[in-house]
Amino acid sequence: MNFDLSSDQHMMRDACRRVMATAIQPILDQSPIDRPLPKAAAKQVLQHLAQLGLTAARLPEDAGGPGMTVLDYGLLCEQLPPVVAFILLPQETTIARIHHGCSAEQRERLLPELIGANRIVCTAATEPDVGSDPRAVRTRIREEKDSFVVNGRKMWISNGSISDVINVTCRDDSNNLVRILVDRAQSEVEVKEISMMGLRQCHLAEMAFHDCRVPKENLLGTSQDGAKILTLTWLANRPLIGLCAVHLAQRAFDAACVYAKDRKQFGKAIGNFQLIQERLADMETAIVASRLLCYNALAAIDRGERANGVSAMAKRFAVSACDRAIAPAMQVHGSMGLSRELGLERMARDVRMLSIPDGTPEILTLIQGRELTSFDAFRQ
Ligand SMILES: Cc1cc2nc3c(=O)[nH]c(=O)nc-3n(C[C@H](O)[C@H](O)[C@H](O)COP(=O)(O)OP(=O)(O)OC[C@H]3O[C@@H](n4cnc5c(N)ncnc54)[C@H](O)[C@@H]3O)c2cc1C
Repeated sequence: MNFDLSSDQHMMRDACRRVMATAIQPILDQSPIDRPLPKAAAKQVLQHLAQLGLTAARLPEDAGGPGMTVLDYGLLCEQLPPVVAFILLPQETTIARIHHGCSAEQRERLLPELIGANRIVCTAATEPDVGSDPRAVRTRIREEKDSFVVNGRKMWISNGSISDVINVTCRDDSNNLVRILVDRAQSEVEVKEISMMGLRQCHLAEMAFHDCRVPKENLLGTSQDGAKILTLTWLANRPLIGLCAVHLAQRAFDAACVYAKDRKQFGKAIGNFQLIQERLADMETAIVASRLLCYNALAAIDRGERANGVSAMAKRFAVSACDRAIAPAMQVHGSMGLSRELGLERMARDVRMLSIPDGTPEILTLIQGRELTSFDAFRQ
């Protein structure tokens, strides 16, 4: 398989790096490093990403998409620090979810404002008692005259506290998983920010729906597609999140290489010592292997192949290998590696956040195992 970038891919990647460095980084730098970005700042970040076509990355061109492959999308995600990717992914993924199985009227009414990031959107599937098994969702929806009424609680929702619109997975009277868009300008939702160890400029929220009335036209898709649409987007999200881990590990590795050549002890640069060289070699191997597994999974999705196994493998390997690669990068820096000034400790905290969303390592192992054996460990 050839992963040499085409000239178009080089151009897209350079444009993304340029926008990140010149337009988005200054927005991040204006806010405290360990607090969620103000909504206006997050919106500006999304609007810059929208200019690159990233908020509609998975949409076909006739629906307002940029006509990129998911491999192209992965290449661009890899250029973004995960704090930015985790502002983008809930917006872009939810737009893809709304697009799938929506009526033409809903697409026309909802998508342009979301693609342009004039409004922020998120997906709320997880609940306090429902995590890895989304089919167990308890949030209920019932029909009442001209509206639906939603009752339940959601947890760990990316961009939840700054979203104007929430794509809520809930269960209807016939026990089907359905999706409904709750527009906070029309319907009341209680939202509370959750403080986390990493990705501290991002937002994770808890939300409560108490007899929350939603107009009927906001019900999306069919009564059978709630679980299917979630799964469909997770397939690409997994290697995309793997590439977020690659971004962090690559930066930590680059810093370690520079430091190993500059820092002198025992009269020579520490890069002369074989134990330091081994750490650098291990880090590079982890990063290259992770990147290739993620590209491989995205390319399989682009070819229309069944990618459940390769996508699970890519995320599980990349997040864990990159997590393990950041620790030796800190070690090479000695005390400096532990300082807040250098930022490696922040990367170590950020990479840990990537292990859970869109499939924990345990769940991903079982998905890969199911592909290998045809036995479903979840529902025997
Ligand atoms: C940064 C971040 C962003 C997120 N964004 C969103 C979002 O936008 N929208 C949303 O809906 N949710 C979001 N989530 C929630 C996330 O999807 C869930 O946390 C995840 O599905 C795991 O659920 P849980 O935390 O309840 O863990 P649980 O499912 O309770 O699992 C607890 C532990 O048990 C293990 N486990 C569970 N089942 C099995 C099994 N069958 N075999 C072996 N081990 C098992 C798990 O791997 C885990 O280690 C986000 C989470 C994070 C950290």
